[in-house]
Amino acid sequence: MLSLQEIIDKICGQTGLDNAAVQSKIEDKKAELSGLISSEGAAHLVARDLNVDILTRVSHKLEVKNIVPGMRNTETVARIYRIFPVREFERNGAKGRVANVVLWDPTGTIRMSLWNDEIKILENLKEGDVVKILGYSKEDNRGEPELRLGSRGKIEKADIEFPSIADTAIETKPANIGELREGATTKIRGAIVQLFESDPFYEICPQCGIRVRANDNKFFCDEHQYVTPDYSMVLSGVIDDGTMSMRVVFFRDTAEKLIGMGVKQALEIARNRMNRTAPITDRAPGILGKEMVFGGRVKRNSMFDRLEFIVSEISDVNAVEEAEKILASFKLS
Ligand SMILES: [Zn+2]
Repeated sequence: MLSLQEIIDKICGQTGLDNAAVQSKIEDKKAELSGLISSEGAAHLVARDLNVDILTRVSHKLEVKNIVPGMRNTETVARIYRIFPVREFERNGAKGRVANVVLWDPTGTIRMSLWNDEIKILENLKEGDVVKILGYSKEDNRGEPELRLGSRGKIEKADIEFPSIADTAIETKPANIGELREGATTKIRGAIVQLFESDPFYEICPQCGIRVRANDNKFFCDEHQYVTPDYSMVLSGVIDDGTMSMRVVFFRDTAEKLIGMGVKQALEIARNRMNRTAPITDRAPGILGKEMVFGGRVKRNSMFDRLEFIVSEISDVNAVEEAEKILASFKLS
């Protein structure tokens, strides 16, 4: 994996610029993208602007972009981009398990599915690891190639130099709500079309931050016993991206970010007005209908048996648009 300094060295070596000049180009690039990308990501973009090839040291077998359905013996070196939770299913009365893994190399991404006993291998692997995979390819139910291990297949950690997943190039593309599946971590570009006016406050343990239980007007944390609680907020509503709408939930700091005030200020407003939903009522007009990019995770709400989007980050559309444009051109290379 190339460090920031290694990328800078390559840029210096191929352009004749000195270290300081390259560093300042990287800082400019970060500023241009509103700090949305890492220094390393910015360095990749600067390298591309200057036509510097920094990815040539990779020793590939079969590049991801060249994998098509129906290949018998594939040997691929890739970085694990994402490991999805194991899913259980029943087919013809037999129980089975499947886990999906997304692999990345500089040419693209591909899904690999692991079945039943094959899943054990994931105990020794994590996102970000570079692995060598011996397997075969198959067409998945969407007509895309997917990698499988099969009885002769294998995955092992590869201790070689390999490019890092340059910034968030893959993640910046938002998904359509209509296509979201349970467990997906993704981004949605859309607008909050409804914000529910229900009590946003709940008590948390001041030491561990976990929600506490009320017990005879006292508050109890499993670990810290009876505590004087702090407060946190949860907000929920409906998000719409033009394809569909979906329940959306904001906890803690994302709830604070959404309504543009901290929990202390919100509590004060609620107390002064003797109305716990007053902060939501106040801020809703500025939130409803405004297009934003929401990062988060699709979760099943088992009580209502529906999918919900749990937001973990909120970003401004303009900054994201700018980054998308540049990263799209980067991906074409
Ligand atoms: Zn606690």
